[in-house]
Amino acid sequence: MILPDFTSVSWLFLLTLIFFIIITGRYFLVAGIFYFVFYKWFPSKFETRKINKKKYKKDQLKKEIKWSIITSLLFSIAGTITVVMWQKGYTKVYTKIDLYGWWYLPVSLLIFMLFHETYYYWIHRWMHKPAVFKIVHKIHHDSNIASPFTAFSFHPLEGLLQAIFLPVMLIILPIHYYVIIIQLTIMTFSSVINHLDIDIYPKNEKNILTKWVIGAAHHAKHHKFFKYNYGLYFTFWDKIEKTQK
Ligand SMILES: [Zn+2]
Ligand SMILES: [Zn+2]
Repeated sequence: MILPDFTSVSWLFLLTLIFFIIITGRYFLVAGIFYFVFYKWFPSKFETRKINKKKYKKDQLKKEIKWSIITSLLFSIAGTITVVMWQKGYTKVYTKIDLYGWWYLPVSLLIFMLFHETYYYWIHRWMHKPAVFKIVHKIHHDSNIASPFTAFSFHPLEGLLQAIFLPVMLIILPIHYYVIIIQLTIMTFSSVINHLDIDIYPKNEKNILTKWVIGAAHHAKHHKFFKYNYGLYFTFWDKIEKTQK
């Protein structure tokens, strides 16, 4: 198949627009479903699982949606840059599964997530340095009690730090494009679940999910106490660095 030249101005604009529609649509769909199911349709069912009993600050959700749309635009630009880099042959993205075999698909997903975890944990610690926090990370923490819409509520500088991770990883790690789609879906669900403020994982601390995977209970403590629980998907860095509460 002959592809058009994606570096032309009209294609750069069109690709960014397509990504923007997909990424904002994905945000509203996933955050919206969780919001309506857990807060509007069946709130009484989850009352005992709600972490903070206080109400959201006035206009909090509106602000979160505004910042999340700006983050989505940054993710869209990163998506366009990734497509151009792929067309120019700068990435290790591949399209034929046989190239590395089926076994490599879950392995590459796990490698990607472990790198992502490490990158995020350490930039997150850095963003909590007072001088950096004020500029880069305060917007996210304006939501003391998180909501599903907090998922992508970041200052553009933080959005940028998050957006560059994918294209950089694709230069280094061979990844099938199916795995990229799965990873981005996991990332969206994980962020919404972690900011739900309703704990949907088993309460038993020995349960593998509760022990090693971050959920709303874990991340709500980050929004409340600031200096614990910096992780993204997994708890291992917080355990190693003794920053877990
Ligand atoms: Zn958060
Ligand atoms: Zn933080």
